[in-house]
Amino acid sequence: MTHNSIELTGISKSYGELTALGKIDLTIKRNEILTLLGPSGCGKTTLMRIIAGFETPTTGKILIDGKDSTTLAPERRPVNMVFQKYALFPHLDVFDNVAFGLRLKKTPKDEIKREVTKALELVQLESYKNRWISELSGGQAQRVALARALVNRPAVLLLDEPLAALDLKIRHHMLNEIKRIHEETSTTFVYVTHDQDEAMILSDRVVLLNKGGIEQVGGPEDMYWSPRTLFAAKFFGDTNIVNGVYHQNGKGSGHVQLPFGRYDYASKSNIGTGPVHVSIRPETLSITPAQGQPSDGEFVGKVKDTSFIGNRVIYRVAVADGTLDLKCQQLPTPGTHTLSPGTQVMLACKPESFVVLPA
Ligand code: ATP
Repeated sequence: MTHNSIELTGISKSYGELTALGKIDLTIKRNEILTLLGPSGCGKTTLMRIIAGFETPTTGKILIDGKDSTTLAPERRPVNMVFQKYALFPHLDVFDNVAFGLRLKKTPKDEIKREVTKALELVQLESYKNRWISELSGGQAQRVALARALVNRPAVLLLDEPLAALDLKIRHHMLNEIKRIHEETSTTFVYVTHDQDEAMILSDRVVLLNKGGIEQVGGPEDMYWSPRTLFAAKFFGDTNIVNGVYHQNGKGSGHVQLPFGRYDYASKSNIGTGPVHVSIRPETLSITPAQGQPSDGEFVGKVKDTSFIGNRVIYRVAVADGTLDLKCQQLPTPGTHTLSPGTQVMLACKPESFVVLPA
C-alpha cells in the first residue's frame, strides 16, 4: 500500500501565550516538492521542525510514510534537514562533515568516498573538501550543509531557506540543481522560504502560511491567478488592489464598479452585492499612448514613473482623475521606446483576469 509521504492532522504549537501554529491539516504527497511560504514569523520553521521531530506539537498527529511519528525521535525518522543556520561541525573538515551520517551508519570507506565526492560535486565544492568550516563563506557553508543532508538519501528532505545566504546567480543555479536532484532521487522535498519567486520556480504545490494558519494551498499558477484571500493576492506576486463595489444581478452574473469604469464580471463564488477588493495583475493591463476618446473598456491615465528592467517595463500610472495609481507591466520590444513620465495614456484591462474578493 502506498501512503502519502506526510500527513499532519490538527497540528498546533504554542509557546506559553504565543500560538506559533494554529490547527494545521496538511497532506504532503510522496515525491512532491512542497513549499512552505509566508512572511517572517508565520510559523514555517516551527512546522518544519515538528516534521523533523525537533519540536513536539502541542496538539495533533503526524504520520510519516503511514507511520505515527508524533513522538518519534528525529534520528528515527526517515527525514533529513538543511538548516537556515548551517549547524556544521567546526572541528571537522568539509569532507568529514558530509561523511558524518554515512560513518554513523557504518558505510564502507570506499562508498563513503564515492558518495561524499558526488555530493560535493553536486554543490560545486569538490575542491574544498579539505577546508575547515571556519575557512568557508556563509554560502559555501550552506552548500556543505546541503551536501551533508543529500548524502544520506533521505525519504524526506526538509530545506529551511537553504539558499538565503547565496548570491542571486548561485541561488538560481542551485534552484535548478535542487530540481534536478529531486528528479534523480525520487525524494519528497519540503522547502521553507519567504521568497515567492523561489516557491514558484521550485514547487509542485505551495502552502501559504499566515499567522500560524494555512491561507491557501495550490500549484504556483493556481496561487498566482486564483488567490482566495487578499493576503494571498498581495503576497503571491505583484498586484494592484482596487476598491470597488460588486453588483450581483442574478446567479453568478453581475458587474463590478471601479473608480475608472464598470465591468461585467461573473462571480464564481456568489459573493453578493457589496464592497469588494479587486486584484488586477500589472501584466493584464495594456498601456498605449492616448489617441482620441477611450473606447469600451478603456480609460485614460498619466504616466507617473517608469522602470525599464530589460525584459519588462513597469509603469506607475495615475488614473481616475489622479485619485488612484495603477502599476502596469509591458514586454518591451526592440525599437520601441519606454513612455516618459507625464505621457497621457490609454489603459485597458481584462475583467476575466480580475480576482474579486469581498471587502
Ligand atoms: P522566519 O521566516 O523569520 O524564519 P518563520 O515563519 O519560520 O519565520 P517561526 O520561526 O516558525 O517563523 O516562528 C513562529 C512564531 O513562533 C514566531 O512568533 C516566533 O517568535 C515564535 N517562536 C518560534 N520558536 C520559539 C521558541 N522556541 N520559543 C518561543 N517562541 C518561539
